[in-house]
Amino acid sequence: MKLLLLEDDDLLAESLAESLKDNGYRIDLAPSLKVARSLMATEHYELAILDLGLPDGSGLDLLKQWRKDGGDLPVLILTARDTWEDKVVGLEKGADDYLTKPFHEPELIARIKALLRRKSGSMSQELTLSNITLDEANRSVSVNAGAWHSLTGTEFILLRYFMHHPDRVLSKKTTA
Ligand code: CA
Repeated sequence: MKLLLLEDDDLLAESLAESLKDNGYRIDLAPSLKVARSLMATEHYELAILDLGLPDGSGLDLLKQWRKDGGDLPVLILTARDTWEDKVVGLEKGADDYLTKPFHEPELIARIKALLRRKSGSMSQELTLSNITLDEANRSVSVNAGAWHSLTGTEFILLRYFMHHPDRVLSKKTTA
């Protein structure tokens, strides 16, 4: 699970990156908007931690652009700007959470976990195995990314079971 940390304070960035790594996340550090933009263009991140005051502009502008381009990456703003008005602006520009400096690392990590949980809960329930995709919410299947076909109850249960146990040979008895 890879996160983008946009932060121009080297000491803070390094200490935070260490803690996040200890919690099992992979981190890319961006000290400027420019670096963040080029990383975002090539890498896939699960979440971004965004400082607002950066040497080449405001993190808010970047956030606004991401949202305008349809990016739904969860974003946590981490900043020294601590008035309620700042928080409202940040959230309205598309941030999912807002934490002010100074902060406690365990709180930041707990908030990141909560954001990632929320994200996985809202994702569509699709299961893919080689060329077969099963949409669990709509009980339909697509082969080779073609049209969706609805399944009967039994078909759905069987296919779902097979896809969850791809390496097992099943007897009639197992699946009955
Ligand atoms: Ca800063």
